[in-house]
Amino acid sequence: MNIHEYQGKAVLKKYGVAVPNGRVAFTVDEAVAIAEELGGRGVVKAQIHAGGRGKAGGVKVAKTLDEVRTYAEQILGMTLVTHQTGPEGKVVKRLLIEELTDIKKEYYIGLVVDRETQRVVMMASEEGGTEIEEVAEKTPEKIFKEAIDPSVGLQAFQARKLAYAINIPKELVNQAVKFMTALYTAFVENDCSIAEINPLVVTGDGKVVALDAKLNFDSNALYRRKDIVELRDLEEEDPREVEASKFDLTYIALDGTIGCMVNGAGLAMATMDTINHFGGTPANFLDVGGGATTEKVTAAFKIILSDANVKGILVNIFGGIMKCDTIAEGVIAAAKEVGLDKPLVVRLEGTNVDKGKAMLNESGLNIVAADSLADAAQKIVALVK
Ligand code: GDP
Ligand code: MN
Repeated sequence: MNIHEYQGKAVLKKYGVAVPNGRVAFTVDEAVAIAEELGGRGVVKAQIHAGGRGKAGGVKVAKTLDEVRTYAEQILGMTLVTHQTGPEGKVVKRLLIEELTDIKKEYYIGLVVDRETQRVVMMASEEGGTEIEEVAEKTPEKIFKEAIDPSVGLQAFQARKLAYAINIPKELVNQAVKFMTALYTAFVENDCSIAEINPLVVTGDGKVVALDAKLNFDSNALYRRKDIVELRDLEEEDPREVEASKFDLTYIALDGTIGCMVNGAGLAMATMDTINHFGGTPANFLDVGGGATTEKVTAAFKIILSDANVKGILVNIFGGIMKCDTIAEGVIAAAKEVGLDKPLVVRLEGTNVDKGKAMLNESGLNIVAADSLADAAQKIVALVK
């Protein structure tokens, strides 16, 4: 799960990570009022769940209240297109109004869960403020890493090593170490999956401050992070994914044309690969799970159909715990409710398969039956072409 920059900064502040003063604004008047409190000026920052805002015109430094108003009017409601939003962009509905920071130099600090070392890894670079992906690709030697032992946490010597490696001024190294330690604690205590401070800055008056904050949270840990769940902004998420999460479905929107309804993450991935193999493109990843009810299957089917790119649907179910007749019931109910007019290929195997197939045959729906995964994939690929 993703949150906004201003929320991320509020979380980090609780742990002692230094961030500039500022608050969120939902209207231009609110933005101006906050800037007044900050001394009549401020940085106006678009709050969307994507980075690259600076380059796209979503971050402006305002030296007067009039400028704050002008920039707030400009940015609020605009569609920001950054390298992370996709070509359709994201509409800005919230602003962060923050005190100005006298930036002397920008750095990068990030924490990720690294699969290779099976540890949380802290990364640091002197190349702050730019896209870290580009630094990683072109000059990987400029990124320094420390794997953190979970039983003892980030050690001061590790933080010092990183601070020296990225040339934090000597007199500020202790401050940087404190910063990194607080960041690590915040990361662990909130079940983060990513924490990225880009840029971390050293200011003219000798402070180490987080000018940007991106926090991602492990969705499997959200059940024990109620205060984090409250920060969720559903308007920033794909509406189909939001709808799917209400029904406890694992759904991820993709940009292909074949809607997939599958049970089990492994089978879902195999199905997507097979579709690709035969020259098609999946419109989504969907795992309806083991114990799906008719209601859940109906919801899943409707979500798939609400995607305008979907030209056909492939249902691939292995009924182990899940029963094939339950799937059939859901498919029929949903198809009738939404008036299905797109090709539908169904491959069922397992518990109550004959009952499921009979129900589909008698439903009056235009369904193409398939015997194997390869057969099903070839049939749906041909039908959507
Ligand atoms: P991103 O582009 O979405 O990553 O947004 P950032 O929060 O990183 O802001 C982009 C850039 O705007 C930063 O790298 C800074 O150079 C600049 N910026 C952000 N806040 C301030 C500020 O308070 N003062 C000044 N002078 N520049 C800022
Ligand atoms: Mn940034």
